[in-house]
Amino acid sequence: MSREEVNKFFKNICKELEANIEYIIFRKLKKNSGYFVEVNKKFNYIELDPRDEILPVLIHELTHCLHPEMDEVEVLTVERSVINRLSIRQYKKLLEIALPKMKNKNTVK
Ligand SMILES: [Zn+2]
Repeated sequence: MSREEVNKFFKNICKELEANIEYIIFRKLKKNSGYFVEVNKKFNYIELDPRDEILPVLIHELTHCLHPEMDEVEVLTVERSVINRLSIRQYKKLLEIALPKMKNKNTVK
């Protein structure tokens, strides 16, 4: 991925998070570090294990959300090519969008 492609991808996952993810739940997960859950087209949420690498896992799950056609191997490839190339400013921006969406599991129906 070129610098330009990384930036474009980053913009898209931010938009996806803002527009299409209702909330993010922290939970100690048994198998994976995160899940993207689609309840219906308008109602999606992401679960993250707080013991893991929150931001890379969030990027991974947002990639699933944005590209349902990609399989796990493709998503992992995208994740790897993006996480080392995002700037600190971009990580902060992602965190700023994510934080207001974070809910406790028991506050969610
Ligand atoms: Zn995955």
